[in-house]
Amino acid sequence: MRGYLLAGNWKMNGSNAADSELLDRIIAGAPQSESVELLVCPPFPYLSDVAARLADTGIALGAQNVSQHGSGAFTGETAPSMLADVGCKYVIVGHSERRAIMGESSETVAAKFKAVQRAGLVPVLCIGETKEQREADRTEAVVDEQLAAVLDEVGISAFANAVVAYEPVWAIGTGLTATPEQAQDVHRHIREVLAAGDQAIADGVKILYGGSVKGDNAAGLFSNPDIDGGLIGGASLKPADFLAIAAAAAALH
Ligand code: PEP
Repeated sequence: MRGYLLAGNWKMNGSNAADSELLDRIIAGAPQSESVELLVCPPFPYLSDVAARLADTGIALGAQNVSQHGSGAFTGETAPSMLADVGCKYVIVGHSERRAIMGESSETVAAKFKAVQRAGLVPVLCIGETKEQREADRTEAVVDEQLAAVLDEVGISAFANAVVAYEPVWAIGTGLTATPEQAQDVHRHIREVLAAGDQAIADGVKILYGGSVKGDNAAGLFSNPDIDGGLIGGASLKPADFLAIAAAAAALH
């Protein structure tokens, strides 16, 4: 069984005080289920403090971005080894906000994916289409191109230690959610693309759905065979919502 991963992407939100309150409630209410892993991804300045608070809780720590470079003259950047050093397990790469706002290409995302793994961390690779691309019936072509850039760089074997997040851009932070059928169709396609490289790796890789996941739509999404949890933005900042999503996953196991 692949189990579920529920990843909270806090984006550029929070403060020491707000994080502390949020974590207290998440830690107190986290489901005690071996098949459900919780992950929180705070902004960089808070990683060390959050790591300390998460010690011995079983809740994992992740970063929202990383440099593809190992060290050196890259002002303002953060190396993968630094994220490992402060206790991260996962790193989100290729979030659509970074692709769209920061202009990250699929090749840059692939380089980041590789650098993350080289540091012993697990990349959470985000892929997904815009509204225009879906309306033009290009959803599969878009995720294929985004996946191919990474497969060309690292090969299928790297996916034995990676997570994929399908995040339709039109559903992120909009309150619009892909229907469970729409999401499952793309997740199945992603797994088939990976299976063309290696069936066992495809069977083992977690594919998360992201895009306005809430407590009231989580069960419908997660009950599909190829949906292994969620990458959650807005609802991850509200402990009751994040815990309701976690409880929905736990109830499915
Ligand atoms: C995200 O940030 O990746 C995301 C899916 O956000 P939201 O849950 O707010 O749509």
